[in-house]
Amino acid sequence: MKVDVLVFASHPDDAELNCGGTIAALTEQGKKVGVIDLTKGEMGTRGNDQIRAKEAEKASEILGVSYRANLDLGDSFLLNNRKNQLKIIEQVRLTQPHICITGAPFDRHPDHGKGTNLTLDALFYSGLKKIETRDSNGAEQKPWRPAHILHYMQDRPFEPDFVFDISDFWEIKKESILAFATQFNVNDPGDEPETYISSENYFKQHEARARYFGHLAGFPFGEPFKYYLEPTPLKSMDVFFEHSPKR
Ligand SMILES: [Zn+2]
Repeated sequence: MKVDVLVFASHPDDAELNCGGTIAALTEQGKKVGVIDLTKGEMGTRGNDQIRAKEAEKASEILGVSYRANLDLGDSFLLNNRKNQLKIIEQVRLTQPHICITGAPFDRHPDHGKGTNLTLDALFYSGLKKIETRDSNGAEQKPWRPAHILHYMQDRPFEPDFVFDISDFWEIKKESILAFATQFNVNDPGDEPETYISSENYFKQHEARARYFGHLAGFPFGEPFKYYLEPTPLKSMDVFFEHSPKR
């Protein structure tokens, strides 16, 4: 059950939309990646929780995600309380990730910032020995705190600390987003109304953003990230020798 990277998302599809390319690149590089969806997205205008669960399963397969759990903490009711923190702590102690990727610090959809704050608190408390949790067999779990925490960008932009090259994974990312067929690039809306994210224009701006941040870093496509508790720590300059952007 151990993973290298654990991604948190307020809604099923947030992970794919905002760091799907990075997930695909990491799994291709042999890293184990898990996704924790905090809610079922049941308040979304289009689709329902069962359909979105199936869509999330398909997206996980496309990206090579090895572990995915939905904590069902309540779409649009996301509360930062001890009960919800403990559900996250159980997952962190179960999967023991080295890196956690969480959502934007604040965003257009209030669940995004709320989900991020809840996750950040839980990630800290997960390292405290006196907060006791048990696994599904009733065995006591050991404390665990990830070494690194990153924020992915959501609807509202922020100044990123680095851009991850997803050029070879853009098509896979796109496929994983389109696995959420009720949510994005909906050609035939049927009886359901068009939403903020369902139109072709939304999808086009999403591609424009990947191209824009890729451009800034010297890649065709990129995903921007912020390092929680800056500055970003480096132990070698290898990363700068791997890549020579045009300046
Ligand atoms: Zn969302």
